[in-house]
Amino acid sequence: MINNIGNSAQRLKLAVAVVLSGVIISVLVSVRIWSISIEQHNLLIKRTSIAKSELIEHHFASSMPAIINALERMRNRWIARRGTPFSEWQLDAQDYVNDHAGLRAVEWVNKDYIVKWVVPLEGNESAVDLDLTFEANRKQALDLARDLKTYTVSKPVQLVQGGKGFLAYFPIFVGSEFEGFILGVFDVSLLVDSLLPHKFIEDHNIEILSGNEVMYSKKEAELTYDDKTGHTHSFSLYDVKWDIAVWPRKIKEGSENSNIHYIALINGVLISLLAGIALFYLLKSLISESIISAKDAEHKATLENAIDGIITLDSKGVIRSVNTTAEQIFDRQRGKLIGQKLSALFAEPFRSDYEQCVWRKEQLKEGCVEIGKVQRVAGMLKNGHVFPLDLGITTFEIHKEQLFCCVVKDMSVAVKLAEEKEKLIQQLSKSNEELDNFAYIASHDLKEPLRAIQNHACFLKEDYESILGSDGVYKLDRLVYLGAKMERLISDLMYYSRLGREEPDMARFNMVSAIKSTQSRLSESLEEHGADVTISSDFPAVYGNRTRIEELLYNLIVNGYKYNLSDKKVINIRFDENLKAFCVEDNGIGIDSQFGNDVFKIFKRLNSPKKFGEGSGAGLTIAQKIVERHGGRIWYESELGSGTRFYFTLKDDNQNNEGQ
Ligand code: ADP
Repeated sequence: MINNIGNSAQRLKLAVAVVLSGVIISVLVSVRIWSISIEQHNLLIKRTSIAKSELIEHHFASSMPAIINALERMRNRWIARRGTPFSEWQLDAQDYVNDHAGLRAVEWVNKDYIVKWVVPLEGNESAVDLDLTFEANRKQALDLARDLKTYTVSKPVQLVQGGKGFLAYFPIFVGSEFEGFILGVFDVSLLVDSLLPHKFIEDHNIEILSGNEVMYSKKEAELTYDDKTGHTHSFSLYDVKWDIAVWPRKIKEGSENSNIHYIALINGVLISLLAGIALFYLLKSLISESIISAKDAEHKATLENAIDGIITLDSKGVIRSVNTTAEQIFDRQRGKLIGQKLSALFAEPFRSDYEQCVWRKEQLKEGCVEIGKVQRVAGMLKNGHVFPLDLGITTFEIHKEQLFCCVVKDMSVAVKLAEEKEKLIQQLSKSNEELDNFAYIASHDLKEPLRAIQNHACFLKEDYESILGSDGVYKLDRLVYLGAKMERLISDLMYYSRLGREEPDMARFNMVSAIKSTQSRLSESLEEHGADVTISSDFPAVYGNRTRIEELLYNLIVNGYKYNLSDKKVINIRFDENLKAFCVEDNGIGIDSQFGNDVFKIFKRLNSPKKFGEGSGAGLTIAQKIVERHGGRIWYESELGSGTRFYFTLKDDNQNNEGQ
């Protein structure tokens, strides 16, 4: 059973471990899925960034040739017409500016590199009459364009109108005459903003660089470029290298996208936990089922192997199950017993009594055994053999149905043994009685002639003393002495046999007062032997025959000072709480352990009468008889030379339970 409990605890721990590992693995998988989903999401965003950066390049590269061509046409018209009038030039330039959003201004620069005409003038006032040689870069580009007689595009510049951009120079040669330049001023911000849809710019951070110069920047201040989601794209246009960096704007807190991964993660963890809890309860119920079935098997085996017969009854007293011992007791297989009424297993009058039993906990009718008690009934086999049967009934409830458990025990052997024992006891007590009677009658009848012998010896001594002489007188004295001794033995024997035959009157009495009266009976003798009787404890109330108990005390006290060589002889009487026995203890010569219980044998004496005085050797035998007649026991403990303790108990009668 303990093993089972141990196993079940271990199995439960295993289940918890399995469930916990399951939950941990599920959580780890959820986290992994979560991180993969973020990676996938980032990849998708990066692809968008790539697509957008390529789109910017495409717009950039595809829009520029149209403007360059337009400006080239303007230059060519000038050459063809040997100078374009200002009004016509102005209209032409305005059209180009209107058509191309990135073109901030169209200018005519004279052969001295001074800006003369500017369209539109508004916003570009600072360019009018500007000497372009003020900056080495610009001058170099102008020189190059003039020398090569073809247009050139400048590197990024800070526009005088503000903002960043680049310039396209178209040298004008009318014949061999150099008449200045048509100059296109490109503003990168205007160009990019015009090329890209508003939504495109809104969703993404965009940065366009040329060399290390930032030409265009539309980004959140706090958000730096991140290569996981962003893309940098390089391309070359008119010998100028451009870098376009595109990366997504920060996802707004609480937006669907920012939460979706967390929701997925929380869902994953929750599902894992729920699955874990479900698995735990499933395992727990499987384990408890296996424990229950192990317990069932254990209970079944216990019932089947019980020494007593066990029968269960339903609420109508009909047999529902029986164990192997019950089958053996009634010599019938369980199939034949199940379904029968319990009363069918009994002989009359029990059969009729149990037939009428009301099978209810508190209402088992008179004649039927009371719940929890054992009753002797008569069992009956199929062949009519009747045998004594002990029957005990208990009751219990299962699924609200009152059931009964009967424990039955075949008492045939026990009853037979008890009967034989009783017979033997009767025989024994009869022969004891006969023996007692014989001893009494024999002693009584022996006393008569013995007294006559003693008397005649006395008369002989008185009448013929002078004739008999000293030897004759001595022999007559011995005859009288031995006659007296024999008389004492016979008296003791008679007394002993009387103790066996008489039923003493019993009553409660005070042990201390019994001791005191015995002590006073012996006072002279005690004084003569220089002995003291002491009492060293309280005593329980005694139930018995006071005269006999005083006799017992008398014998033990006398022996206590008789077999005692101490100067100060002490006999102490007490009640030993540990042994629950009375104790008479002396400081005498002690008893050699080799004699054992011989001291209780009648007429057995261990010491020389010369040294310790006369006696019959029946005192302890009588003491033992008295104790036994009181339902008690007597024994002794002794150390040779130091004294003896005689212990005796008296029957523990209910009536002597009260204290003195
Ligand atoms: P009796 O005293 O008449 O001889 P008992 O039956 O009283 O007969 O005792 C039997 C013997 O047991 C005694 O003769 C004695 O040898 C021994 N005996 C009894 N009581 C004591 C005692 N208290 N101490 C030592 N020996 C004892």
